[in-house]
Amino acid sequence: MTRGMRPEQVWGIGLREETAAEISAALGNGYVLRNWPHGKHPGERDLGRATPLVIFVVKEAWEALPSSSRKRLEQWEVPQRVLVLSAAQPMADFDELLEQGFLSAVSEPLSDKKIRDVIFRAKEVKSLYDDIFRMTREIMLERELLARKTDLVLFLNRILTRATESLDPTVILDNAREDLELLLPMRGLLGILWQPGDSGALEAELFLEPEMDHDTERHWTEQLLRQAAKLAGKPMQSYRTTFLDGCPGREPVDVPRTVEEVISLPLRAGGQTFGLLSLYRAKGPALGKDQVQALYASINHLALALKNAALFSQVKVRADHDGLTRIHNRRAFDERLVEELRRHQRYHHPMSLLMLDIDHFKGINDTYGHLVGDHVLREVGRLMTETLRSTDFTARYGGEEFVIILPQTAEEQSRVLAERLRGLIADARFVHDGHPFSITVSIGAATLLPGALSKRKDLLDKADKALYQAKTLGRNQVCTALGPVSRTGEEAVGTAQAG
Ligand code: GH3
Ligand code: MG
Ligand code: MG
Repeated sequence: MTRGMRPEQVWGIGLREETAAEISAALGNGYVLRNWPHGKHPGERDLGRATPLVIFVVKEAWEALPSSSRKRLEQWEVPQRVLVLSAAQPMADFDELLEQGFLSAVSEPLSDKKIRDVIFRAKEVKSLYDDIFRMTREIMLERELLARKTDLVLFLNRILTRATESLDPTVILDNAREDLELLLPMRGLLGILWQPGDSGALEAELFLEPEMDHDTERHWTEQLLRQAAKLAGKPMQSYRTTFLDGCPGREPVDVPRTVEEVISLPLRAGGQTFGLLSLYRAKGPALGKDQVQALYASINHLALALKNAALFSQVKVRADHDGLTRIHNRRAFDERLVEELRRHQRYHHPMSLLMLDIDHFKGINDTYGHLVGDHVLREVGRLMTETLRSTDFTARYGGEEFVIILPQTAEEQSRVLAERLRGLIADARFVHDGHPFSITVSIGAATLLPGALSKRKDLLDKADKALYQAKTLGRNQVCTALGPVSRTGEEAVGTAQAG
């Protein structure tokens, strides 16, 4: 026995004094024998307090034990029980011994050798037990680890699958918020994505939780813009805000009181940081290693999906917009016109279409050059977008021709609008090499009455004919399908059917 270690316990049940003395002597240092003389036996508390290596049980004492105590000892797996027989008793049947859970039997008188043999075998069995116990624990730990890894893989698979289901960043973030809630209790998810615009300046899109009060919205907006500028190395030139879906039953997001409540996670793809997610955490214990690992892996998946979505929207914007004027192109217009006609028929609203053509534009190119012509086209595009409502749809139809869809707009309103636009363009002043010049436009307007059935081509034809009429009547004027509206700001002069 090593000094300082507790002596190993050996118990006796029903041992006579001499036998107990013999055992004690044979055991030597490092062991202590505790004996319950015949008629006594270890109680519940004794069993709970220590675990002996061996229990020497005298046959008569064993048989005299109350059955509950015997059962308890039988079910106690760790200590090895050895049956002690008197010299007169026949050697016990081996099967019977095993059945009652005894390791072996010894007959009196107990020699040192017999006792040491018993102890040696008990130790062997105990070390075997210990090995099995350790292995079982290891297997259980492995199983638990495996189960956790499986959970993580399933979780990441879910995040990845859902993130790649959509090319809309709002949908991706809505889903991510729902999934991340499984990983850590959250109060909200906020984010910012940025990308360089045409001029190279950074344009950002903020994603905020809905139902924020004014101060909270300002706090998060400033916070996200500041962090984004830090990560991007320059400030965001412009931004727009999109709100995520509401979660029924959840409290509105507020201003966090401590820094620990917000986890900021930069979004990276292709070696570039292009965004940031802020997880607004519910108060609670620090995140576990597994949680942190899962969180980072999820963010990597999300970053890729969000980057794809951003690229897709960039490509889509390019495909839908005219490279020179940056307003919608004819392809986008054709698509939109079909949609608006469908809406017109379903909701029985009137709708109008304006077709605008710059007068004598060829002359501008010829006089000032194509670059100036391009500048004029851009300016006309800008004036149109600035004058119209956000629901109106402006597009470059081709060359120096533009079209405007005016949903829910009756003829009278469309004429007023067209006239205002015509005046505004006529008033715009251009300068080239110190020479001021101005331009005029002719506009043809066509309206569909509520409920009127019309094909796309019919409406376009009507507007085109009205435009042709404005041209033939002297340009710089608005004509409807019914006739001219005004001429250089004067009252209309007569009515002519445009087809
Ligand atoms: P009208 O009053 O009858 O409309 O006369 P116009 O000169 O405007 O009409 P025309 O169809 O004869 O000429 C249109 C010109 O627009 C011809 C073309 O070179 C020019 N153009 C078309 N696209 C562009 C462009 O992208 N940039 C420039 N600078 N010019 C363009
Ligand atoms: Mg033209
Ligand atoms: Mg023209």
